[in-house]
Amino acid sequence: MQVLVVEDERRMAELLRQGLEEEGHSVILAMDGKEGLAMAESHAFDAIVLDVMLPGMDGFSIAKKLRASRNQTPILMLTARDATEDMVAGLNLGADDYLVKPFSFDVLLARLRAVSRRGPIPQPVHLQVQDLLLNPASREVARGSRRVALTRTEYSLLELLMRRAGRVVTRESLIEAVWGFDSDVRSNTLDAFIRLVRDKVDVAGEQKLIHTVRGVGYCLRGEQV
Ligand code: CA
Repeated sequence: MQVLVVEDERRMAELLRQGLEEEGHSVILAMDGKEGLAMAESHAFDAIVLDVMLPGMDGFSIAKKLRASRNQTPILMLTARDATEDMVAGLNLGADDYLVKPFSFDVLLARLRAVSRRGPIPQPVHLQVQDLLLNPASREVARGSRRVALTRTEYSLLELLMRRAGRVVTRESLIEAVWGFDSDVRSNTLDAFIRLVRDKVDVAGEQKLIHTVRGVGYCLRGEQV
């Protein structure tokens, strides 16, 4: 396998390189976040071993950027912090698995094999829930034979809900994904936009697809659960 290792601690980076090469893999090392992102974007790797705490750009931001640009290279995250929230955040942003430092090299190899076997997650050409169809390439949305015209913000909200169809998307992740990390967008703004999307997607007489999960967020699904 061609493995990209993004790790700023030189000793750890060298250990990883040496160990992986002994296993027959070829390794490219990046010692800071921006360099790591640039390499991941410019070469096709079979897997990326990505440290969380990095100078330049942290591992979460790198994973998020790669996934946002449809790069599906399997990512194994490394972290010295063992806070579960961090890891959940990492996995939500697109990492495939994570390891808490210190770890044994055998465990790393096993996890790396597992994430790379899973391979890139294929991106469907269309997203579909019941008769609601969204084409990410053309950004066209249709409900049955009816075309749904959405503004940019409305589209982004609907695309995210459709990508996670059947699962609850928290208000925080919707706001963060659509308006960005440090936006001062309030919850009521989100609700107002969701209302606009709903008015266009769930027209009277059609099956309701966008559901409110009180106190948590929203969920797009076909069947009432
Ligand atoms: Ca580090």
